[in-house]
Amino acid sequence: MTDKITFKDLELAPEILQVLEKIGYESPSPIQEASIPHLLNGEDILGVAQTGTGKTAAFALPLLSNIDCNSPKTQILVLAPTRELAIQVAEAFQTYASKFRNFKVLPIYGGSNIGTQLRQLKQGAQVVVGTPGRVMDHLRRNTLNLDHLKAVVLDEADEMLRMGFIDDVTWILDQTPDNTQVALFSATMPRQIRAVAEQYLKSPKEVRIQPKESTKANIEQSYWTVNHLHKLDALTRILETEETDGIIMFVRTKNQTVELADKLNARGYSAAAINGDMVQKSREHTIEQLKRGSINILVATDVAARGIDVERISHVMNFDIPYDAETYVHRIGRTGRAGRSGKAILFISPRERHLLRTIERTTKTPITPLTMPTREDVNNKRQAEFTEAVSQLLDSQKLEQFETLIQSMQAEMGTDPARLAAALAYMAQKDKPLFLDTSHDPVHASANNLRERGGRGGRNDRGRGRDRDFNREDRGGRRGDRGDRGERGERGPRRERFGNEQKMDCYKISMGRNQNLRPSDIVGAIANEANLSSRDIGRIQLHDNHSTVELPQDLSAATFKALKKLHLRNQPIALERAAGNERGGNEKMAGNSSYKRRG
Ligand code: AMP
Repeated sequence: MTDKITFKDLELAPEILQVLEKIGYESPSPIQEASIPHLLNGEDILGVAQTGTGKTAAFALPLLSNIDCNSPKTQILVLAPTRELAIQVAEAFQTYASKFRNFKVLPIYGGSNIGTQLRQLKQGAQVVVGTPGRVMDHLRRNTLNLDHLKAVVLDEADEMLRMGFIDDVTWILDQTPDNTQVALFSATMPRQIRAVAEQYLKSPKEVRIQPKESTKANIEQSYWTVNHLHKLDALTRILETEETDGIIMFVRTKNQTVELADKLNARGYSAAAINGDMVQKSREHTIEQLKRGSINILVATDVAARGIDVERISHVMNFDIPYDAETYVHRIGRTGRAGRSGKAILFISPRERHLLRTIERTTKTPITPLTMPTREDVNNKRQAEFTEAVSQLLDSQKLEQFETLIQSMQAEMGTDPARLAAALAYMAQKDKPLFLDTSHDPVHASANNLRERGGRGGRNDRGRGRDRDFNREDRGGRRGDRGDRGERGERGPRRERFGNEQKMDCYKISMGRNQNLRPSDIVGAIANEANLSSRDIGRIQLHDNHSTVELPQDLSAATFKALKKLHLRNQPIALERAAGNERGGNEKMAGNSSYKRRG
């Protein structure tokens, strides 16, 4: 535990170190360890990192350490592909800078009130996080001034490319002062992103995590797609339905180890936390308890769990996803000890699916999706356990006294014996009901919904609407050009690739080429305003005065409402379902351009 680099070793600003201590970050993630020294040094970096690796802190912590809060001028600009990510990044900056005085971070994105944004920009914000379209807007209006900019970050650059924002991004980069430090983060490195890096980054340090280890064959690996809301419920359901012995549960922060252990204890499990704050002695004591079986679940951070060798660990649960494949391999190696078999379960949110793929690719082992047990499954398990417990009692316990009692109760009440037994069973199960209500199951519904929207989609999803290059097809359909099809190599329109997974409806937009509309405008507006993922957006066709776009059939009422309010180029676009003759398909329409979302 001593050789691990700490945040203090990285020479971050003292206020930031205080915050990290407070929020319980124990040690830097690999991408943080690799990026922070360069960024603190003022160097440019090219980071190959995905969501979940800790990349936001990898750029936010060092860049914040170098800003001057006595000045309200904008010193850091972060460009993010979607509103959702812009807000998330702005919130992260707010947290990390919470001990700075006079600090302001401002998220700016399409759809939010421009008047409020103008006021806020006037007041000044040292950090601005925005989507490319809105940032461009403000630069054109001179309402955002970059004269004092120290650093610009391109977050999820490949996603910005996919959404058709790359020209906007380079336009914005052209507006930044010459000596601006640039950090470019991208999950993949397609040709166009490399070209941007070559043009705009000065001798960048390339930072990528190289996982090397492989997993053991005796560990069965699976994953669950689950959203944060239902994570704990999902976890308890698995604990109820799986046959488990000792479990190590991994979370990211020291605080979470304690919180989760408390919650599990409250739900009747014997759990304890271990983290890097604990002195060696109490850490060893807790591990000893796990060995002996006086506790069954250890909730740990990566640092604290290093080297634990306890034979009875049947399960490793990645409650929070690890930063990278190497950490994952370390974690799951805590089970399957001494020739036993073990199970590793990974919880992922839809946004983290790419890390799942990276892990599979690196370890060359498929990770199979788990089917979420239903409440019925839980009921069956509880009833089986109850039956087993009763049958053991029948065999082992002296029950004569109780038999006499029951006989006299029965005689007194004149009740049917089965009914009497039922009343006793009811009393016995009061704390843990044998019959959960199966008519409503939010956890199951959520997990299935996520899965259908691309859970194992993880795999299928690789190509879903990604790596599309609008301009290429637009400029004469050079589809034979395979040069930049991305690393994943999927082809064709998504419905062919995904079978009947997602049915699409065609919508008409009252604006087209004559209004200078670009496919990226449509993708950007829909992704940001209606909060749909870019991969939910299907084929787009531009006509002279209207356009069509394919969207999933199962849109929620809220999404539909948001779509109805869409604006493009500051005008409402009157989105409506397209009539048969307005759809794309095989229809030949003079001068229309079709944009397939391709992999
Ligand atoms: P990101 O990859 O930036 O989306 O970060 C993913 C999550 O990891 C966020 O919830 C962060 O709060 C968390 N995180 C980032 N760095 C650390 C760290 N060094 N220790 C613990 N948690 C972290």
